[in-house]
Amino acid sequence: MAETKRDYYEVLGVPKDADDAALKKAYRTLAKKYHPDANPGDAEAEKKFKEASEAYAVLSDPEKRKQYDQFGHAAFDGGTGGGGFGGFGGFGGFDGADMGDIFGDIFGDIFGGGRTRSSSSRYNGPMRGANVQTSVRLTFEEAVFGCEKEIEINYKEECSSCHGTGAKAGTSKETCSKCNGKGKIMYTQQTMFGTMQNVTTCPDCGGSGQIIREKCPDCRGTGYITRRKKLKVTMPAGIDDGMSVRSVGAGEPGVNGGERGDLLVEAVVSKHPTFIRKDMNIYSTVPISFARAALGGTIVIKTVDGQVEYDVKAGTQTDTKVRLKGKGVPSVRNKNIRGDHYVTLVVQVPERMNEEQREALRRYDELMTGKVARNDDGGGKKKRFF
Ligand SMILES: [Zn+2]
Ligand SMILES: [Zn+2]
Repeated sequence: MAETKRDYYEVLGVPKDADDAALKKAYRTLAKKYHPDANPGDAEAEKKFKEASEAYAVLSDPEKRKQYDQFGHAAFDGGTGGGGFGGFGGFGGFDGADMGDIFGDIFGDIFGGGRTRSSSSRYNGPMRGANVQTSVRLTFEEAVFGCEKEIEINYKEECSSCHGTGAKAGTSKETCSKCNGKGKIMYTQQTMFGTMQNVTTCPDCGGSGQIIREKCPDCRGTGYITRRKKLKVTMPAGIDDGMSVRSVGAGEPGVNGGERGDLLVEAVVSKHPTFIRKDMNIYSTVPISFARAALGGTIVIKTVDGQVEYDVKAGTQTDTKVRLKGKGVPSVRNKNIRGDHYVTLVVQVPERMNEEQREALRRYDELMTGKVARNDDGGGKKKRFF
């Protein structure tokens, strides 16, 4: 959709500061002129109609219009590239759902009573299948280093008994006699725009243009079978909670030869008992003894790469922050780039000591304060009596 895309304002023939009413008016005029139902079989008209619909879809939405004014068409191009995974937010472009809303909004207006909202039967050309979403749970470490996960999804595929026709084996679909296979019925109606050709979906065939006399028993005439399917999904190193991986072609099947939609697998990352992740960095708290903090020395710190030794400086205070460079989370775009691990050292006061340890601490205290520490064995008191 990139190449030589026309400017949306140019498409609608309105100035950049056109207000909502002007946009709507311009779009109505174009839609009326180029609507496929008014120009059956005219590919150029259909192209113009789609172009105008897309332009209107963007410019009539204040948020999208802002994006477009700022970035042009590039605002809506992202999302699907990048080595097999996308879906990290942003704009998805224009799919059936978006257009459906527009049709509902505008076409209810333009064609008066004739609600032509069922846009799926509007074009008999190929239509891409819908995207399907699912999620998979990862441990903290699996998200950091990446992993392969087997998931099970409901996978809709062509029924092998009827090869997707929906007709019982040995029978075939028949052309609908009510609409002569067109899938829609035209009639004229007086509207505020004058006499209009109005179109409605054929009630007999539901818009498919064909009737199934004997339904395929295996798929009950739908042409599709849904089965559980196991799928391997590669979650890249550095994936974070809420990010999705795209599995191309694993979504719903397309219609009339359209390609399948995609499967979007969202990562749900479990919390770690000691590590906290923020983007590419990891944070943890490590207790160190009062003596080690005072004297300095080597301590062992747990990281996602295993245990590492760290030399604590003599005189380290509590809440000192230590940075372990490159021990954080890899970038999801490039696993050779890694964040850091930040450790907060918390000095511990011993809660239990034996007599020897207490004696050593008294001696320490004595040296620090220059006095004999008072204690409960009464040794100091005795001296006073003499
Ligand atoms: Zn079947
Ligand atoms: Zn019909």
